Amino acid sequence: MRIISTPGEMSRLARAIRREGSGRHSLVPTMGALHEGHVSLVRAARDGSTIVTVSIFVNPTQFGPNEDLARYPRTFEADCAALQGLGVDYVFAPAAPDMYPDGFRTSVHVDGLRDRLEGQVRPGHFDGVATVVLKLFAIAQPDAAFFGRKDAQQLRIIRQMTSDLDLGIEIVGCPIVREPDGLAGSSRNAYLSPDERRAATVLSRALRAAADAIGRGIRASAEIVAAADAVIKAEPMARPDYVELVDADTFDRVGSIERTALLLLAVRIGSTRLIDNAVINVRDGEVNVER
Ligand code: AMP
Repeated sequence: MRIISTPGEMSRLARAIRREGSGRHSLVPTMGALHEGHVSLVRAARDGSTIVTVSIFVNPTQFGPNEDLARYPRTFEADCAALQGLGVDYVFAPAAPDMYPDGFRTSVHVDGLRDRLEGQVRPGHFDGVATVVLKLFAIAQPDAAFFGRKDAQQLRIIRQMTSDLDLGIEIVGCPIVREPDGLAGSSRNAYLSPDERRAATVLSRALRAAADAIGRGIRASAEIVAAADAVIKAEPMARPDYVELVDADTFDRVGSIERTALLLLAVRIGSTRLIDNAVINVRDGEVNVER
């Protein structure tokens, strides 16, 4: 496994991979502090690719001024050891000034999708994400890129950008990996105190309550959201940012379940902000919930 620390070196390597027809090259973009969720993306990429590159870059432009950029966990050595064990070929770990040199002026906006939900609570977040992902794609020139469905709105935005700009990169969405008690894996889970960690199961419990309501035949969004809300309200350490049922394609709020939808949650536990979601699949009138 080789560690590449400059965009120039990575892009020279990517061009050589293409020129030599070395086979399918897959990219897994991450911000490091790797956990089982990241591992699942790397395994999915490894399976069926000739070359796997994992990028580790804590992207400053996707953090707001009052967010956790400075304290975001950084565990580079342990991350590299884990990636080596997973058979990764290249780790691309650039420094911020090399990604955003003085005079950098370009930003990618995916209109509409970027302003709601996560984008409303975190203004500018998705412009930062889309811009850095486009840069990573331009530098690494992969055939495929792997993302987690945990960040559902991010995945939707990256698919839109990839299609709108004819990038010709296959975007693969991977299932949410959870702890045994249901908490979705996140680098931010490391911030939680033991009491907060217990309270954090409220997100997956809220999704389960909503899934149970759907299982009982409820189709009205207000009732499904209320079932999730009730669980969050019962947890004194939890403060919800939003609980919304949206169309999986447009991310517009829906009044009832008629086609594939997403139930999206963002909840603060103490000073830690966590997100989670469930996909509500509708096929031939059959509804099933995937968490
Ligand atoms: P991050 O390092 O938080 O930027 O995440 C890098 C990638 O890992 C993103 O595509 C995330 O959606 C994905 N990811 C993070 N947590 C999980 C999880 N629990 N299950 C699946 N994918 C995840």
